[in-house]
Amino acid sequence: VPTAELDLEGPLTELLAYGRRLIEDGLSIGTAGNLSIRAGDRVAITPTGIPYDELEVHDICIVDLSGEKLHGHRTPSTETPMHLALYNETDAGAVVHTHSPAAIAVGSVVDVLPAVHYAILRLGGHSIRVTDYQLFGSDGIAAATLAACRGGRRGALLRNHGAITYGPTLAAAYDAARLLEWLADVYWRARLLGEPRILSDEELDEHTNEAERRRYLQEAPSQ
Ligand SMILES: [Zn+2]
Repeated sequence: VPTAELDLEGPLTELLAYGRRLIEDGLSIGTAGNLSIRAGDRVAITPTGIPYDELEVHDICIVDLSGEKLHGHRTPSTETPMHLALYNETDAGAVVHTHSPAAIAVGSVVDVLPAVHYAILRLGGHSIRVTDYQLFGSDGIAAATLAACRGGRRGALLRNHGAITYGPTLAAAYDAARLLEWLADVYWRARLLGEPRILSDEELDEHTNEAERRRYLQEAPSQ
């Protein structure tokens, strides 16, 4: 099936652009990491084993929500089950999986990335969970990722492996990946200096309420 008939040309071009950014921004090296976009009941996902700067539109794989390949001459990412678990169980429109260094370092030491900064709220909770170590590409890593994202979390750290984030669009999922790496990096630096102070649930709720109040004031029609 030609990609034009699948009406996925926009998402395919976007996957190439963000794949290159993954390397440029230091969120992965070589062929590591993978990205996908959902379009209805189809998922466009990067193939396994091709460097991002060599990737072309026709290399992107199209699979259905059960993982059946619908289009593409390449092998879909080995982490396709992890991406599909999120599409099947959350409102994800795009998923980004990285091997970003601070995320891996922090995820190999702690069970939870706590709120050293209120920006963590943009990832849908007061902390980010770390999964147990699971073999890459396994149903176990897919299940552990889903469990770590429960309660509306838009990301998780994968122990001794990397990070995963999702969002309504690829731009949002990618921003979440950069934010998660930044939060892990800040926490790492703080831990080098001592035991960091963590924002309490009350302080985080207060922040959310204040942000909503200010947004309301901005949006309220002036009399
Ligand atoms: Zn990986």
